[in-house]
Amino acid sequence: MTSDVERVAALLADVMRDVETTTSFCWSARVGTYDEWVAEDPLAHMPHDGTMVTVYIDGDHFLLSFAVELALSNAEISTGLASAIQDEVIDELQGAWPLCPRHDHPLDATVLHGLAVWTCPHDGSFVAAIGGLDAG
Ligand SMILES: [Zn+2]
Repeated sequence: MTSDVERVAALLADVMRDVETTTSFCWSARVGTYDEWVAEDPLAHMPHDGTMVTVYIDGDHFLLSFAVELALSNAEISTGLASAIQDEVIDELQGAWPLCPRHDHPLDATVLHGLAVWTCPHDGSFVAAIGGLDAG
């Protein structure tokens, strides 16, 4: 179980690096096991097949937790994390994030050739690896 948490934590760290590089947010995020999540929220009733990890993101007034399906590839987990966190960053910024270098829309987190990357939703072009955004 520890290795599942470590695996997802490493993927989460890439996404959080992008947040830190391109915003002024001081967010922290951690990965916990399903059992920890249920212990914190006894009303939780998500179906559990033993392959779920929960991710928490804490900020000033902000908490998000969701389950990660460990059967997915690392690239798929990474894009899932990136998309979920992207929604929260966009809410907080009230603007596009991460900003496409050529347009004014947000980038898409997608799997390209087996890698988790940010692409332009307009032309599908590669912009950066997830975790590799420039400060801009
Ligand atoms: Zn674009």
